[in-house]
Amino acid sequence: MIVIMFGPPGSGKGTQSSLLKEKRGWSHLSTGDILRSEVKQQTELGLKAKAFMESGQLVPDQLVIDMLFAHMDGAEGAILDGFPRTLTQAQALEAELGKRELDYKVFSLELSQEELETRLTGRRVCSSCGTLYHLNFFPPAQEGQCDSCQSQLEQRPDDSLEVVRKRLSVYFEQTYPVKAFYEELGKLKSLDGTMDKHEIQNSIHMNIN
Ligand code: ADP
Ligand code: ZN
Repeated sequence: MIVIMFGPPGSGKGTQSSLLKEKRGWSHLSTGDILRSEVKQQTELGLKAKAFMESGQLVPDQLVIDMLFAHMDGAEGAILDGFPRTLTQAQALEAELGKRELDYKVFSLELSQEELETRLTGRRVCSSCGTLYHLNFFPPAQEGQCDSCQSQLEQRPDDSLEVVRKRLSVYFEQTYPVKAFYEELGKLKSLDGTMDKHEIQNSIHMNIN
């Protein structure tokens, strides 16, 4: 079973994917995380992807498609987080899942644009262990410092207000049409992204076998 977490940046796809991974033991494939690690390691792919990511644009389809399919090798149960983000990616995935005879379900997290901006610009991440914080919703005990390892908190370069607005506009132009694609195939389940994260997780559970 493949679960696709769909929604705008900041909608909580990553949070829901982690909760689901814990519960089911499936692999969590976040194209954003995989790309950030490629950038950090300065691989050929990372070097190509860096400028697109920092300016809030999408990395070219073929690079992301090849990267994701390589990570999906042999996976029977997986959670896709941040993919597909264009119709081209959705069509490539449809063909690949058909070939591998894998069933899938898409969950769409819905939120208003304002809510998304607040969520994204307030996000902070531990530079060492990766724990996520939020200035308004989940602040650390000591300002700027990780509760679990005391390292310094950072803002992702693409979480500044300017880049967040760019990412949201890219989402509405290029990614939003993917929703209709899955709706027409009868694969889409919409969820209210403002609900408590555990309530959202429960709805996801009730909709997969
Ligand atoms: P968010 O969902 O919060 O925008 P991600 O961590 O999923 O953040 O992605 C960060 C960046 O990585 C995106 O802005 C984009 O540049 C790149 N990226 C991630 N997934 C894809 C994808 N499927 N196609 C193209 N680019 C992607
Ligand atoms: Zn830490």
